Amino acid sequence: MQRLDVLPQSRDVRRQLVLHARKRPDGLEQAAEVSLAVGEPPYTLGEGVQVVEGAGDQARRDGESIEHGGAVCQAPPVLLVLWDIDGTLVDSAGHGKHAFEEAFQAVMGRPPAPVEFAGRTDHEIALAMLEGERERLPRLLEELAAALEARGEAMRREGHAYPGVPETLAELHARDGVVQSLLTGNIEANAALKVGAFGLERWLDFEVGAYGSDPHEARSDLVAVARERTAAKYGAPTAAVLVGDTPLDVRAAKDAGARAVAVATGFSDPDALRAARPDVLLPDLRDTEAAVEAIVG
Ligand SMILES: [Mg+2]
Repeated sequence: MQRLDVLPQSRDVRRQLVLHARKRPDGLEQAAEVSLAVGEPPYTLGEGVQVVEGAGDQARRDGESIEHGGAVCQAPPVLLVLWDIDGTLVDSAGHGKHAFEEAFQAVMGRPPAPVEFAGRTDHEIALAMLEGERERLPRLLEELAAALEARGEAMRREGHAYPGVPETLAELHARDGVVQSLLTGNIEANAALKVGAFGLERWLDFEVGAYGSDPHEARSDLVAVARERTAAKYGAPTAAVLVGDTPLDVRAAKDAGARAVAVATGFSDPDALRAARPDVLLPDLRDTEAAVEAIVG
């Protein structure tokens, strides 16, 4: 449960706080959204926000929007945990790669020449496949989303989340001030498909993540995108940590001034990962306590 302090309005803060309570499928109610209603952009706090000083009680009891005038809110400190997907959270049993090959075939009418996948964004992989034919990129990425969606059921059947992943996500989710999302080269639609196939979406806030479909030149650019989204929704993160399986994930974290936790479950040789000098290198996420400590720092 995060704690949101509702403070008395001061003379120079003439804003109105509107609380929306939402009923969750499990019957628990939550105060999920806080808007500064007068001339301010929506200010949204994620699931599990607890409102103190009475307004929250009323919101939960009524189960609908109430107005609570004369208050301002302060966001609690946020640690932003950004997860890589392939090789870190899930093994998609090759369906991600096959979807790319099908998409290329659909757009170009021939199979692609072999290209390197590990640690690269979909945007980078697509450009490598297209050998500079940039104008075909939007169509290829569209076909990629359709191809993976068609493979969703097979991916669920043949792929898996890595051991300890659900437990680690759940444990971090329960911690105060931790927001978890994705920092992935996958385009957003495919990121949602891959983690959704194994039930991991419940612990992740997709809205504040950054994806291969976001504008970027390098993977590290995506860290800034995720930070900005997190700041807009939760207040500025105090720190960011990337969890990934390749030296490129580690480098992206370092280039962006974030901590790097490497896990050796995926596509990289542990020695290569060690050489990239992550803050922590884990063999896998089976030891939940060790994983959480490594990530929280
Ligand atoms: Mg990866």
